[in-house]
Amino acid sequence: MEIRQEFPPNIRDIMNKFDLYGFNPVFTYGDILYNPSGGEISPDLMAHEETHARQQSVYGVGDWWTRYLKDDTFRMTQELEAYREQYKHAVENYPRAVRRHLLDTVASNLSSKLYGKIVKKKQAKELIEHYE
Ligand SMILES: [Zn+2]
Repeated sequence: MEIRQEFPPNIRDIMNKFDLYGFNPVFTYGDILYNPSGGEISPDLMAHEETHARQQSVYGVGDWWTRYLKDDTFRMTQELEAYREQYKHAVENYPRAVRRHLLDTVASNLSSKLYGKIVKKKQAKELIEHYE
């Protein structure tokens, strides 16, 4: 994926939906990873974002983003798949302690208001861990 240190083309739509204050998010739009803060892209995060690129190639990038922003359940299914791929990368490449920490962090993310608080953290952990 090409990485650009700028906001994605649909940043207005994203900011109308989400309060990004205090976050340094990255955004996949097509096969470009937008990284406005210029923060480090870890290999596990890259696995997550590559999943979104693949999802968008199936739906069409514009349609994917429209649905992602308006449909909490759709957003959850897409994120769950991406977090599973991210965690899978960690299982295959990182030591156990790092992997456990990552699972804790991504479960917090998935259960946060950013994704509509659809699942509790414990449930998010179980969903991510059982990626098979
Ligand atoms: Zn994601």
